[in-house]
Amino acid sequence: MARFLKYKNTKMVNIVQISGLNLQKLDRSKTKTKLEKRPPGDFVVIPLKDGFGSSLIPEVEAGDRVKIGQIIARDDGGVSTPVHSSVSGTVLDVSFMKYVHEETLGELPDEIIGVKVEVDRSFWEVEEVEEVNWEKLAPSEIRSSLYRNGVTSFGQTGIPSGHWSSFYDPSDVSDIIVNAVKSEPFTHHRVDFEGELEEFKHGLEIIARGYSEAKIHLAVDPEVQEALGDLSSSQRISVRSFQSEHPNGIDKVLARKILGGDQLDDGGFLMDYGILALDEVVPIHAYGAVVLDHPVSTTRVSLGGPEISNVVVEVPVGLSAGELLDGAQGYKEEDQVILGGPLTGRVMSSPEIPLGKSIPSLVLMKGPERSEVLAWLKPGSKKESFSRAFISSLLPNLDRELDSGIHGELRPCISCGYCTEVCPVDILPYQIYHTGSHDLVDEVNRLQPQRCVDCGLCAYVCPSKLPLSRVLEDAKWNQSPRVKNYVVYEKGEDKIEPSLPEGPNDNRGEAS
Ligand code: SF4
Ligand code: SF4
Repeated sequence: MARFLKYKNTKMVNIVQISGLNLQKLDRSKTKTKLEKRPPGDFVVIPLKDGFGSSLIPEVEAGDRVKIGQIIARDDGGVSTPVHSSVSGTVLDVSFMKYVHEETLGELPDEIIGVKVEVDRSFWEVEEVEEVNWEKLAPSEIRSSLYRNGVTSFGQTGIPSGHWSSFYDPSDVSDIIVNAVKSEPFTHHRVDFEGELEEFKHGLEIIARGYSEAKIHLAVDPEVQEALGDLSSSQRISVRSFQSEHPNGIDKVLARKILGGDQLDDGGFLMDYGILALDEVVPIHAYGAVVLDHPVSTTRVSLGGPEISNVVVEVPVGLSAGELLDGAQGYKEEDQVILGGPLTGRVMSSPEIPLGKSIPSLVLMKGPERSEVLAWLKPGSKKESFSRAFISSLLPNLDRELDSGIHGELRPCISCGYCTEVCPVDILPYQIYHTGSHDLVDEVNRLQPQRCVDCGLCAYVCPSKLPLSRVLEDAKWNQSPRVKNYVVYEKGEDKIEPSLPEGPNDNRGEAS
């Protein structure tokens, strides 16, 4: 009840200030997660479309020897970022594989090429290099280093570099948001803000130098704020604090809060408004790329769930999710594996999917009970639900038993309005659900689904457990190109290419 009343109150304030839902109490792991480095197993499968960009054609073939950090695929004339080998070893196979869309984490068809490399044990023997004095580099040299070393495939539409890493030009970037806010339970920071503080700060300054016209906004939550100590903002880099309440950790929500919301209502990509949103790991990669000339060859995955030990693991790009889970304390084979967070992620269809740069976290949860007739009527004091049908809503401090089930058979909308109450961008999920179910496309578009920020809160609070966030996602895919805010991949003759709607910048991607 208390939580529900809280929403009643927050609804009175401007949507940009809505406080969000504190889900952290679902996460009983109060200990800070440590960063562990794990060596590869026997082989890795490196996706040739990792993050934003087209699927590349490999420059290696079965039988070739490759070294860690070697470029194995590159196309300077297509929208992409070079891909590097994450290990030293021998190429075993080059074939199509399953991989995921960098933003929605939905599975892309078997049209991404993967390079399978058998590992030899020189993996951790990274060559010592002389550090580069980045302060003497021109902005274009910094951006070229980010491109060459594989950093520019991060971000919703890639990082503009003056090369074809994005459809946008570096001069289009007016604001950069570095997102160090974690608001979903069981997802953790992938930067060690105590041990890696210097690298992180230098990485931020490197980004600021590479985009000298842009303002940098570092968004932090209380955990990062505590680790960073006395935060000071400069004219170019400002630090903004946010509570760990969902959906504060979502890029589009931070963009609305930091830069104002109304202009984003028209849909499209954040870069259409000059906003480049970057994950907290990007400054660390930027430091490695520009100062040490190290390509991105590892990925950091946060591993969490109600029953497992929470940990952040650094592994070579291309290690399979299954291989990572094999070593996870508390993992059971019947657990459902969710790519991303429990509210915004997707259930993984196969443990064979390799871990690339764009997979930030895996959450393990009990799957739904097979048959639970009228389960939602059972009071269950430990069941997690927003609905007051469950006695758990009267006991807000009790630990919850979280699973991914809908607790019973499919149920109709009961017009309770919870989904509207909780939506941070003030749209009407239940109306989109109803009109969408009847294929009333014009009516759906009139309800402006493009404003949805994919927070998943509507589906979470719905007592009927309707798949509202997926319905919203479909509604967005089906919109006109002008307001579409997901990258669509189109199949060409021998590879898939990203396609973005026509924008005002005719010079996107031109080399400087
Ligand atoms: S419609 Fe649902 S998923 Fe989209 S912003 Fe609103 S609450 Fe979040
Ligand atoms: S869709 Fe769910 S949350 Fe929204 S009004 Fe219907 S029952 Fe309530």
